Amino acid sequence: MATMSNAGTEIPETRTTSNFLRDIIAEDVQTKKYGDAVVQTRFPPEPNGYLHIGHAKAICLDFGLADEFGGKTNLRFDDTNPEKEETEYVESIQKDVRWLGFDWERLCYASDYFGQLYEWALKLIKAGKAYVDDLTADEIRQHRGTLTEPGKDSPYRNRSVEENLDLFVRMKKGEFPDGSRVLRAKIDMASPNLNMRDPVMYRIVHATHHRTGDEWCIYPMYDYAHGQSDSIENVTHSMCTLEFADHQPLYRWYIEQLGIFPSQQIEFDRLNLTYTLLSKRRLLQLVQEGRVSGWDDPRMPTLSGIRRRGFTPEAIRAFCASIGATRTNGTTDIEMLEHFQRDDLNRRARRAMAVLRPLKVVIDNYPEGKEEFVEVANNPEDPAAGTRQVPFSREIYVEQDDFREVPPPKYYRLSPGKEVRLRNAYFVTAQSVVKDAAGNLVEVHCTYDPASRGGNSPDGRKVKSTIHWVSVKHAISAEIRLYDKLFIKPDPSDFAEGGTFLDNLNPDSLEVLSHARLEPSLAEAAVGERFQFERVGYFCVDPDSTGGRPVFNRTLALKDTWAKIEKKAG
Ligand code: ATP
Ligand code: MG
Repeated sequence: MATMSNAGTEIPETRTTSNFLRDIIAEDVQTKKYGDAVVQTRFPPEPNGYLHIGHAKAICLDFGLADEFGGKTNLRFDDTNPEKEETEYVESIQKDVRWLGFDWERLCYASDYFGQLYEWALKLIKAGKAYVDDLTADEIRQHRGTLTEPGKDSPYRNRSVEENLDLFVRMKKGEFPDGSRVLRAKIDMASPNLNMRDPVMYRIVHATHHRTGDEWCIYPMYDYAHGQSDSIENVTHSMCTLEFADHQPLYRWYIEQLGIFPSQQIEFDRLNLTYTLLSKRRLLQLVQEGRVSGWDDPRMPTLSGIRRRGFTPEAIRAFCASIGATRTNGTTDIEMLEHFQRDDLNRRARRAMAVLRPLKVVIDNYPEGKEEFVEVANNPEDPAAGTRQVPFSREIYVEQDDFREVPPPKYYRLSPGKEVRLRNAYFVTAQSVVKDAAGNLVEVHCTYDPASRGGNSPDGRKVKSTIHWVSVKHAISAEIRLYDKLFIKPDPSDFAEGGTFLDNLNPDSLEVLSHARLEPSLAEAAVGERFQFERVGYFCVDPDSTGGRPVFNRTLALKDTWAKIEKKAG
């Protein structure tokens, strides 16, 4: 498979956008909070799905900020849930992080630390800070209390250290069935923070882990594993999303009780995008139920999906830099991401002519059998992209939309008696139409002005419209996939009582055009290569392409609605 070949200028990344995380790190560096230790961050995905655009924000913060301060970033898989995690995800996540343009200092797994975490659990038991509880999960929940009521102590809370050690060691040996016992931290059942009411540290799960196999049948909870994993890696700034703010006291409690490296957790706002779902659980449901063709369906907000759609890492990074980070959750307009993508593609994508819904045009006064080549700039934004020769002949295709037999008011494109410019070629005037027995338009007959070669008439005559075209004889045929939003509502989670988010799926999110005709230079386009089809939009070659028949995904239409929104907002 060939790789992308869109060379060109890089988008300047805005290092100046202010963001409170940067301010905190800058201050810690200045006050030498961690002595001479380097700034160390980590990106900690759970390998239970593919990364999405929300993760891209976290990646840009974790890697980008460490980079700004000469620090380092680990990629750490938070693999404490043996039942939901798979190697496929581990591989896709590494690929996606690299594609975004980042490389990690160390590749780590929380499961690397299972041994150490177990030792630390023994230490907490010996210090009287943890106990084995025989309550069922339901009973634990009932004992937990609510925001307004304190919790109740478990009858097992005051077991002796010896009994706790004995039971925990036997839990590890596999003597007890799943769910029969847990290890809990002994903190405070009356704490106003529910996370501090004797949280579970370990549960029994007899399941094969993607890396440790059957070595373990007890697995640490996220809260027990995360802070200590950070500490083991000397993470100075552990950035995560706001829903973990309530867990921060617990994060600190474990670190303080164990007296280990004092990593600090800092929470920032989750990325939410209009018309987009960023929850791995729901994205998995879309994949499993066949609502999309896979994790990399170009309508998915996964990095593999938007990559296949034609999005570039440069545009995603520029977008992430521009949204920065705050301490309150909000929602970002999808149009803003699209705006950054258009900006990048406008600068870099090679232009080409493609007719998506062809209508045949015959130029009656053009010599039969003649063909010629017109020279066309590959990218008017980038003279270094050079020019190419596009064949022209007596029969061409134009878009069905670019002709009206009876033009509505203000319709300046082709119609009987009207003259238009064929882009880079000639002026043509429509003369007559041919229809089939059923009255359907079959072809349009035109005349051309040989003096207007290149697209201008020597007498200075003006035309109101320029349309694109391809030569019938030279055109290649292609499949074009047009994508629209996957959901019809700005908030896909906004559904009626008794409904589900699936009710908001857009039934018209994919339209396949099988009869598109493209200029012949596109026959050589490589998978992943991106183009601007003039007057139509940005397109990217899909991996489903076969030798004779390319498939193009529409990345975005040309119209930039975000620019409009911004303009309106002044
Ligand atoms: P999801 O809710 O989609 O399953 P998650 O938070 O469970 O996501 P993780 O694999 O645990 O996914 O996430 C890894 C990192 O990415 C975490 O630090 C998390 O805070 C961050 N992250 C996840 N979703 C977003 C988002 N929408 N915006 C910003 N950061 C995110
Ligand atoms: Mg998670």
